[in-house]
Amino acid sequence: MISSKEAISLENRYGAHNYHPLPVVLAKGEGVYVWDPEGNRYYDFLSAYSAVNQGHCHPKIISALKDQGETLTLTSRAFYNNVLGEYQRYVCEMFGFEKVLPMNSGAEAVETAIKITRKWGYEIKGIPQGEAKIIVCNNNFHGRTTTIISFSDDSGAHDNFGPYTPGFVKIEYNNLQQLQSALKGPNVAGFLVEPIQGEAGVMVPDDNFLKEAAALCKENNVLFICDEIQTGIARTGSLLASCGNCTCTSACERQPDHYTKPDILILGKALSGGVYPVSAVLTDDRIMDVIMPGQHGSTFGGNPLACKIAMAALDVVYEEKLAQNARKLGKIFRAEMEKLKSECSLLKTVRGKGLLNAIEINDSPESSTAWDICVSLKENGLLAKPTHGNIIRFAPPLVMTEEQLLECVAIIRKTFLSYAA
Ligand SMILES: *Cc1c(COP(=O)(O)O)cnc(C)c1O
Repeated sequence: MISSKEAISLENRYGAHNYHPLPVVLAKGEGVYVWDPEGNRYYDFLSAYSAVNQGHCHPKIISALKDQGETLTLTSRAFYNNVLGEYQRYVCEMFGFEKVLPMNSGAEAVETAIKITRKWGYEIKGIPQGEAKIIVCNNNFHGRTTTIISFSDDSGAHDNFGPYTPGFVKIEYNNLQQLQSALKGPNVAGFLVEPIQGEAGVMVPDDNFLKEAAALCKENNVLFICDEIQTGIARTGSLLASCGNCTCTSACERQPDHYTKPDILILGKALSGGVYPVSAVLTDDRIMDVIMPGQHGSTFGGNPLACKIAMAALDVVYEEKLAQNARKLGKIFRAEMEKLKSECSLLKTVRGKGLLNAIEINDSPESSTAWDICVSLKENGLLAKPTHGNIIRFAPPLVMTEEQLLECVAIIRKTFLSYAA
C-alpha cells in the first residue's frame, strides 16, 4: 500500500487543486472509524459532509451493493428496470410524497428542483415566459453547477464563473419579514432554503422559521423547497430537519404528516449511506406532472444499483434508530461543549441540532486557529474540518455509541485545553 506521503504528493501533482484537504490520507473505514495507510485510527467527525450517517461500509448497504452489482447495474431510463418502481414507492411512502425524480449528485437534484419550480411557475401559476423568480438565502450552499453558483455569495464559489443565471432573489436567512416582502414581488415561483445552513457554519434558524415560511409561501402560491441534502436522513435528530420542533421520541420517522411538509424536498448524501451517489427530488402529482417525457433526465438516475443501495441505507436508519440516537447524542455533545466553553475562552459559541453541530472559535475568520486546532484534533485521533475560517463542524456518523461520543468529547477537550494553554 502506498504511504500517506506518496498519496498526498500524487494528488498534488496530478489532481486539480479544487480542495484544501486536512493532511490525512484515509485508506479504510468501518462504522465511526477511519484508518490511514500507516494504520492510525481516527474518529470521523465529518462523515463526508453528512453522507455517511449510517457509518462507513455498513454491512447491510455493502451487501446490497455486492448483490445488485452482480445482477444489474445500469439500464438507462430508455427501458424500465425491476428495482426502480419498488424504490420509488419506498421513498415516496417514507417521506410522504406522491412522486420522486431520481438523480445522482446533490447539485443535480437542486437543478432538477429549480427546473420543476420554473416550469410549474409558467404552466400552472401562469408566470410570463422568462420572468420566474426563485427566492434564496444569503450564505446558502446548494452545490456547484453554473446556475447554482450564480446565486452563491461565497466569492470563491462564485467569482469568475459568469455570465450568471438570472432569476434568483436573495434574502437574509431566518428573516420572515424579508421573505414576506420578497414573496410580494412579481412572478415568484419558489423559495429554496436549507432547514439548517450546513456549509455556512451550521446556522440554526428560529424554531418557527420553517413553519412560518411554509405558510407564507402557501399564502402567496409559491413553492416551498427544502434542500435537506445535508440535514436530512436523521442527521438532526429527526428523519428530516423540516420536522421542526417535533419532540416525539420514536414514531416520528413514520409520520410524514408530523413535519412542515415542503412542496418540494431535495435529498442526497446519506440517501445512499455514502456508498454511491444517489439524490432525489420529491413532490406531489400537481407539481411533478409538469415534467413530461424528454424534458429532464439522467443516464445514471434511477439505476437499479443506486435504488437497492438507497433502500438498504434507509432501512438502516429505521432499524438502528439513527434519528433517536442523533437526538440523544446531540444533546449530550452540546452540553459537554458548553461545559468546555465555560473553561476555555477559545470557544465562542456552540450550536446545532442532533448530530449536526459547530463550534465557533474565538478568533477572526482570517486566522489559522480553527485549522490548527483541526490538525491537532487529527493528531489526537479525531477528524473534523473548519468551515468559513473560524468555525469547526462536528458531524460524526449517527451509528456512534454514547461511550464513543464521550471518548470523542475527551479528545476535543484535551486538544482545546492544550491549545489554549
Ligand atoms: C452537499 C450539498 C449539496 C450538493 O451536493 P453534491 O452531491 O456535492 O452535489 C447541495 N445542498 C446542500 C445543502 C449540501 O449540503
